[in-house]
Amino acid sequence: MASIDRAENMRRIRSKDSKPELAVRRLLFSLGYRYRLHARKLPGNPDIVFPSRRKVIFVHGCFWHGHLDCARSHVPQTNQAYWGEKIGRNMERDENSQRKLAEAGWQSLIVWECSTRDMDRLKESLIKFLGD
Ligand SMILES: [Zn+2]
Repeated sequence: MASIDRAENMRRIRSKDSKPELAVRRLLFSLGYRYRLHARKLPGNPDIVFPSRRKVIFVHGCFWHGHLDCARSHVPQTNQAYWGEKIGRNMERDENSQRKLAEAGWQSLIVWECSTRDMDRLKESLIKFLGD
């Protein structure tokens, strides 16, 4: 059944994302920001939610979410069409979620997996996005 496959697939994607997501959460916490996790009622089920600021953060794996011009998003030579289509669908879904969030008055920030390697820079962009 297609819908079950997709749910299973999304779970796998999420578990792939969990390590960078934890790094972002730890950083946010150390900066004094408080948040909620996985607001299932919001479009795209954002990873980190700041209800009073009406802001959300998605932590995206570079491969699964098609980070442009990123070494980690390189599609394997074998089954290129298969992966291309799968990742294209994810990118489309991400775009839709962000549009719906914006329409509902939510600002969103994408934190890419690869950006968690430079915590100082990530810290700056989080503070810039969230404010004081
Ligand atoms: Zn990347």
